[in-house]
Amino acid sequence: MILMKFGGTSVQDSEAMERVITIINSKLVSHPIVVVSAMAQITNTLIQCAQLAREGKETEALGLVKNVLAKRHHETIDQLVKDDARKNLLHSTVEKYLEEIKTLIRGLTILGELSPRSLDAMASYGEQFSSRILSAAMQEHGIKTELVDSRGLIITDENYTKAAPLIDVSKARMKEILLPLLVSGIVPVTQGFVGSTRHGVTTTLGRDGSDYSAAIIGASLDAEVIEIWTDVDGILTADPKLVPQAKVLETVTFEEASELAYFGAKVLHPSTLLPAVEKKIPVHVYNTKRPAAVGTRIVSSEVNEGQSGSVNSIAYKKGITVINVYSARMLLAHGFLKSIFEVFDRFETSVDLVATSEVNVSLTIDDQRNLQAIVNELKKFSTVTVEHDKAIICLVGEQMRYTPGISARAFGAIPRMNIVMISQGASEVNLSFIIDETDVQLAVQKLHKEFFE
Ligand code: ADP
Ligand code: ASP
Ligand code: MG
Repeated sequence: MILMKFGGTSVQDSEAMERVITIINSKLVSHPIVVVSAMAQITNTLIQCAQLAREGKETEALGLVKNVLAKRHHETIDQLVKDDARKNLLHSTVEKYLEEIKTLIRGLTILGELSPRSLDAMASYGEQFSSRILSAAMQEHGIKTELVDSRGLIITDENYTKAAPLIDVSKARMKEILLPLLVSGIVPVTQGFVGSTRHGVTTTLGRDGSDYSAAIIGASLDAEVIEIWTDVDGILTADPKLVPQAKVLETVTFEEASELAYFGAKVLHPSTLLPAVEKKIPVHVYNTKRPAAVGTRIVSSEVNEGQSGSVNSIAYKKGITVINVYSARMLLAHGFLKSIFEVFDRFETSVDLVATSEVNVSLTIDDQRNLQAIVNELKKFSTVTVEHDKAIICLVGEQMRYTPGISARAFGAIPRMNIVMISQGASEVNLSFIIDETDVQLAVQKLHKEFFE
């Protein structure tokens, strides 16, 4: 069995869905399970609808339902599905969901508030639409398929908008529901990103979470491979949107891929690799538009030994806040770091980078929801300053640990930039530093030139 996940751009319109169906058709012998994202931009539109409703802008929200949600899905169905009965059923399913969305919008407008739970209810519709359209279109092409609601497969905690899967319960559900379908030669199609609590309330795994859904299902059922189908040729030496001449990496180690994902390379959701690593299931990244291209294989570091080069890829993450904590007493106080991290822990805010000197600790976060509360707590025992609108640049490469002079080359390539903070992990697979957000594009381009051109 293989797991195939198709991202938003891969199902963005009828033409894209046709390509996806051709790819699935060519893999039937491997018994695929298909995980699908919402059509491109649909999740953004749904979230926007919810936010507009909360602000009392009901008419604008309903406008988006009509002009974007209804239009794109109905149009795609018309172009893709020819069988009348199937087509009518799909149109009416889409209508039913659109009515539910409108009801939600009215409710949010009346309440004037948007809880994470309501936001998940809203955001989950994108995958409901796309999965139903794709599975119907697959049937149209004679593929035996069954739509499986991911809310019955991926059971999560109640941490809405970033729910964590409860692996054991979910695994049992997957075995019970998916395995019999595979045995009967049916291709299960399910939604990425969406799960539900034990009580059946809809949750999501966080933005871009479909990759994670794929990995959880793939790992739970011991897939031969987890295939991530997207809109680029694989994992590249940098984000091609910033560096058009970026090159494809044929292999990347799990460690490199996790660093890249964690530090912003959107091509993989950061949590995706954990389940795959634990089960040693290979992850391949492919381009839906160029299915014959080799793509990127994510492999364990032993396999990748002997690979030449030093830096393999450059990632960046914007929207970073730096928090500097000073304390004259720190030199003597052995529990200082602990008390700092306890504050972040209490406010459930994860820290990306840390750099320390004798009297100062600098940390970076990207989740600013509890920033003020964190600063207030830290101020109880230290002096605190905050710097906004920063970005992390991260150079990743297994061979970096054996290659001297990487930092000199990196900083030499961007001599005039203000480097706020530098951090190199113990694994030495990455070198990360903080610059101003406005410098990101130029920095990535210059670093790419230095290491790859
Ligand atoms: P999907 O909708 O298929 O999940 P995403 O938009 O989430 O696709 O991820 C693919 C995008 O990731 C690419 O279009 C590219 O702009 C971006 N990206 C960032 N860094 C990299 C990288 N190092 N290699 C490949 N793609 C990258
Ligand atoms: N549709 C969701 C999002 O846009 C999940 C995904 O595409 O992976 O965040
Ligand atoms: Mg993605």
